[in-house]
Amino acid sequence: MGEHFTAMVIRDHEGKPKAGFEELTLADLPDNDVLVEISHSSLNYKDGLAVSGKGRIARRLPMVAGIDLAGTVVESRAPDWGPGDRVVVNGWGLSETEWGGYSRFQRLKPGQLTRLPAGFTAEEAMAIGTAGYTAALCVLALEDWGVIRPRAGEVLVTGAAGGVGTVAIALLAARGYAVTAATGRPEQHDFLAGLGATGFVDRADLATPGKMLQAERWSGAVDTVGSTTLANVLAQTVYGGAVAACGLAGGADLPASVMPHILRGVALLGVDSVMAPQEKRRRAWDFLDAHLDRAKLASLTTTAPFSDLPELARRIVAGETRGRTVIVLK
Ligand code: NDP
Repeated sequence: MGEHFTAMVIRDHEGKPKAGFEELTLADLPDNDVLVEISHSSLNYKDGLAVSGKGRIARRLPMVAGIDLAGTVVESRAPDWGPGDRVVVNGWGLSETEWGGYSRFQRLKPGQLTRLPAGFTAEEAMAIGTAGYTAALCVLALEDWGVIRPRAGEVLVTGAAGGVGTVAIALLAARGYAVTAATGRPEQHDFLAGLGATGFVDRADLATPGKMLQAERWSGAVDTVGSTTLANVLAQTVYGGAVAACGLAGGADLPASVMPHILRGVALLGVDSVMAPQEKRRRAWDFLDAHLDRAKLASLTTTAPFSDLPELARRIVAGETRGRTVIVLK
């Protein structure tokens, strides 16, 4: 176990975080209770920001990047986990305050581990990753709100060709909703239709400020964009509808009014994946296991070697990637 392995490490470089490949040994890893051999990680928008240096994600340095990992327990001092257990980790501060998944091995806290459902391989779990598991949290949030039901009316997904968006479309279509995709890439319409989208909106139409209340159209929505887009989506949501908001690909502000909420009873449901409790995570993974078509998952996934990560990080921040990207570590 004294061998070296490659990790993507963020260090301070003249006052700025800078990521690069480094060789580590097990002795370099944090002294947490469960040692996991990581076979796959994934690429999320947040990973793109961390690895490209476009955003300050790490809150202490040095930091191993990667908010997701899937692999197998090698050693454990925790009673609930033992060698051979297949695990997945999403969020929990990985790449922020806890060393993350862009490493062949990592030592983790037992409470950070979720048992991988038997129906998924490690590669599929990372094809889903934080983005896909967040899409599941969003769909569950809408269904828990209880207003929209299968075949109730149109459900909108913004940032449709991205990681959260593509998995949300596949899940909503499987649940029987009529899904409309808001995308800035018309060349992706056929691909999104293959996932189950039946209607399309140009994302530019949602990006300019509109009236406080607009024609009622969406029974529900999954929003990954935020800002003016989210304000317009709220203003276009039907009486009693709900919007699950999880992202800020278009901006962190929300230039909206209270009108949709106080005149139409529209609900804005905030969705966080990072610190979601284990019970919520297990429910989301079981939901994915039950409802995510594996062929659709394969069609929205690109698999890449670890060495491609810096270029892929640049591309996801530039909005040039499609669907989900798995990073192979083994
Ligand atoms: P991706 O980069 O894969 O997808 C984002 C999509 O948003 C793009 O594909 C693009 O879709 C659209 N987009 C990009 N830039 C803009 C822009 N300036 N204006 C409008 N639309 C834009 O990212 P992810 O799917 O991984 O993440 C989406 C968002 O959700 C991110 O903000 C991320 O931080 C957030 N997130 C939050 C989580 C939480 O726990 N709350 C968990 C996971 C993600 P298209 O080309 O179709 O227009």
